[in-house]
Amino acid sequence: MLRQNDEIKMNVSELLMYFRCPRQVYYLYRGHELMPDVSSQYIESLLIKELAFAYPDIVSAYSSNAEGMVESVVESLETELCRVCDNIELIHPGELEGASPELMEDARSAVSECIKQIGTNLASAINEHGKEELLSCIDPVKTDPILYSERIGLSGMPAKLVCHDGNVVPSVIKTGKYPENGVWNNDRLHVGALAMLVEEEYRKTVEYGFVEYARYGIVRKVIVRANDRRQILKIGNRVKKIKDGTMPDKKESSLCEHCNFSEMCSACSAKVSLASRFF
Ligand code: SF4
Repeated sequence: MLRQNDEIKMNVSELLMYFRCPRQVYYLYRGHELMPDVSSQYIESLLIKELAFAYPDIVSAYSSNAEGMVESVVESLETELCRVCDNIELIHPGELEGASPELMEDARSAVSECIKQIGTNLASAINEHGKEELLSCIDPVKTDPILYSERIGLSGMPAKLVCHDGNVVPSVIKTGKYPENGVWNNDRLHVGALAMLVEEEYRKTVEYGFVEYARYGIVRKVIVRANDRRQILKIGNRVKKIKDGTMPDKKESSLCEHCNFSEMCSACSAKVSLASRFF
């Protein structure tokens, strides 16, 4: 298990990368650069994430059961999307370097198609839970704070810290689909790892956090359980071993198709398989 003063430190982003592909952790730590696949879906995710930062301001302008609320929220979101599209290349210049205007336009129109659903869901959350409750789950008291736990040698940067019922808790923004109930397992562990960092910063147990499924305007609360903490420490230990030199097995997935480590990764697997025939 991880111990205080272990020399190799980790970041929450490396735990998330481990979920996707442990080998990417290995290559990245050894100085190789992971190039994003700048597809329309990738740009869509950046746009949605930026748009989500405007949800608190939009929500704060409405009260429960206001007449024509869905239409007004949708209109505000459309205005905000225009602003986000104008600024996105200034906010993410590295990630969008070389993105063609056609690709940008495809992403913009895909996000535009989500806006009605986002507006409907935000409006129904205002009606169901009240504006103040919704705001306490999504309105940040800090944005992108850098947190560090000396005890587990882990750092991380939650998209937001929110103050809910007097508790400072992490909130993460996800741009993919949401599950029927609760949150995806990896999202639960993401919140759990950040909760452990917030605990050390604020010297108070963090029992829960939030996941914002921004493409749909849906917010889910997630309780951080002992088993989540156990899993996080276990995965952290594996990441540490990888950084220390253990090459993980290749995890073949759709990710491999656009991974710029692919050639090096296949060559490495071939070498391992050849060696296994002799030893
Ligand atoms: S090619 Fe596939 S298995 Fe290899 S590093 Fe990339 S994503 Fe991981």
